[in-house]
Amino acid sequence: MRVVVAGTGYVGLTTAVCFASHGHQVRCTDIDESKIEMINMGISPIFEEGMNSLLKEVVESGQLTASTDLEKAVVSSDISFICVGTPNLEDGGIDLSQIRTVSASIGKALSNYDGRHVVVVKSTVLPGTSEETILPELEKNSGLKSVKDFGLCVNPEFLREGQAISDFLDPKNTGIVVGESDTESGDVLVKLYAGFNGSVLRTFLRTAEMIKYARNAYLAKDVSFANEIANICSTFSIDYLDVKKGMEMDSRIGEGRFLSAGLGYGGSCFKKDVSALIHRAESQGIEPNLLKEIEAVNEKQPTVILELAKKALGNLKGKKIAVLGLAFKEKTDDVRESKAIKIIDLFLTNKAQVVVFDPKAMDNAKKIFGVDVDYAENAENALKNCDACVVATEWPEFGNLKLFSNKEDLIIIDGRRILDWKSLPENIRYYGIGFPILNK
Ligand code: NAD
Repeated sequence: MRVVVAGTGYVGLTTAVCFASHGHQVRCTDIDESKIEMINMGISPIFEEGMNSLLKEVVESGQLTASTDLEKAVVSSDISFICVGTPNLEDGGIDLSQIRTVSASIGKALSNYDGRHVVVVKSTVLPGTSEETILPELEKNSGLKSVKDFGLCVNPEFLREGQAISDFLDPKNTGIVVGESDTESGDVLVKLYAGFNGSVLRTFLRTAEMIKYARNAYLAKDVSFANEIANICSTFSIDYLDVKKGMEMDSRIGEGRFLSAGLGYGGSCFKKDVSALIHRAESQGIEPNLLKEIEAVNEKQPTVILELAKKALGNLKGKKIAVLGLAFKEKTDDVRESKAIKIIDLFLTNKAQVVVFDPKAMDNAKKIFGVDVDYAENAENALKNCDACVVATEWPEFGNLKLFSNKEDLIIIDGRRILDWKSLPENIRYYGIGFPILNK
């Protein structure tokens, strides 16, 4: 099939590369010329495991090309995916400006289109957005009627940054959700996914939109629940990790992959989507108390690290604190809503001297902090002469005890509970989320 992808961020580029690798002819578009240039050279503008090699392969084979001209791309394609950003507005709602612009361009292209095109919304949008915003924009700019002249689908994306390629190529754990304006359009999208190993749920457009929010809110709930229980455990001299093991024995709770205690959820989705759902529920006259608490617990969690640092170091003024990890999670360079960034802000407000290191996210962090922090070349250098170290992202290398083996009198604050504290040298004082306060 001839596929167009509008927006080449984490979701768009992954979508484009993966469909191309399945033999489809893909053209991806973006307004950012530098991204388009890089993609056409086979170089990924983002860090994502396996992205560079797969991108290079599909560019060299001619399966994938990139351009800034969305309208031209749509005219010679069968199906187009909207993968642009839907960031929060100040009031928590979502900013649909990128969605509107792209929908208008696709609409204009459809006015010169021969055949029946299918437009697919992959960006996360609130229930009702496709019917109330995207569809009117497409109809107005094309002069066509939906269902009769073109189709509309909602196909929310469930990939996890850090394993975006493998999640997309193998959707058996998430399934494929297809919201459809009509059966014929849904059939086209289902056909495109032939060869991807995931069960398909076909439903209404707004139901598909809601499924994405319901899943993210559910997972965010687990994270905030874990953090609240972990914070209580600390004050009772209980290690939350032991409690978590005990919880996971109960098959009703299960594997509990989102029950890890830590700094709270970050990244481009959970916070944005929970806030947007709260905002939308309130506009419908519903008081979403649970969602609000999920958010409140999450916002407060970085202050737990600040309190641990103060407990360990006293006044933070002039203290040198190494922060290991800047990305919102391991295996990505994405620092959007990263809790590491929030913690660094708290340390700087308390006049600490901060030195940072992340294997992939240094460039993105430099755009935020400029000269306010020091940047180390590696984790070992970050730890030199520091008073305390905070593990803020669960990169596996930060869990390697060798990193700390020659350190004298170091204080470690494990914001991700990845260190085997029992095996740390005696002269290291260990603190962690959900760890008994001053147990060792
Ligand atoms: P992103 O910010 O990384 O990428 C968006 C891209 O769209 C940018 O490259 C931007 O330049 C481009 N763009 C903006 N206006 C454009 C236009 N008029 N024409 C063409 N391109 C344009 O965003 P993302 O993280 O890829 O997320 C995209 C959507 O997918 C969001 O709605 C997000 O909530 C959702 N989502 C994200 C993830 C994730 O893990 N990042 C997972 C699932 C769903």
